[in-house]
Amino acid sequence: MAGKVHVIDHPLVQHKLSLMRSKDTSTSTFRNLLREISMLLGYEVCRDLPTTLTRIETPIAPMMAPFLDGKKTVLVSILRAGNGILDGMLQILPSARVGHIGLYRDPKTMQAVEYFFKVPDSMGDRDAILVDPMLATGNSAVAAVTRLKAAGPRSIKFVCLLTCPEGLRVFHAAHPDIPVFTAAIDERLNEKSYIVPGLGDAGDRLFGTK
Ligand code: URA
Repeated sequence: MAGKVHVIDHPLVQHKLSLMRSKDTSTSTFRNLLREISMLLGYEVCRDLPTTLTRIETPIAPMMAPFLDGKKTVLVSILRAGNGILDGMLQILPSARVGHIGLYRDPKTMQAVEYFFKVPDSMGDRDAILVDPMLATGNSAVAAVTRLKAAGPRSIKFVCLLTCPEGLRVFHAAHPDIPVFTAAIDERLNEKSYIVPGLGDAGDRLFGTK
């Protein structure tokens, strides 16, 4: 089964992404844009969330109104850049639970090694949305999904800002059942594993660490 990729090509998303790509964009603007764009991505990602009808009264009449069970959604951030997407998603899903996965790349093997994993209890009742701005080599996304699957959520979706054909191939080979939501599929990876044209190092741009 080929994995499903949803490219969110809405003009608002593309405009904000172009601003984020520019090397002249400041840290604070980059951070605000990532928060805004994440709300727009979240809008699409949540399109199929279930609602249940509850009786309410408007000032005019009673009605059965649809509500989300926000607590059933768990947003899982791949540290550290995932926290930028997490901020925006929490604005539209304020009751969501939050998990974190910390991974670093072993410089010898280039494989992702876990150093932190914390998710809420009762994962079997929850739908997980795993977030990381860049799906580049795919190695950390694959490792994060493998670890998250072991915690047993009802479903998993992967959300990123940018990806590339190489990363999608690696991700889908390992996890063909997990849909990917992204704002763009760029050209390629370079020899340093950066996405081209991309936006540079998402963590450094978000936190101003360069
Ligand atoms: N991680 C980043 O932050 N940027 C890239 O281009 C690739 C991986």
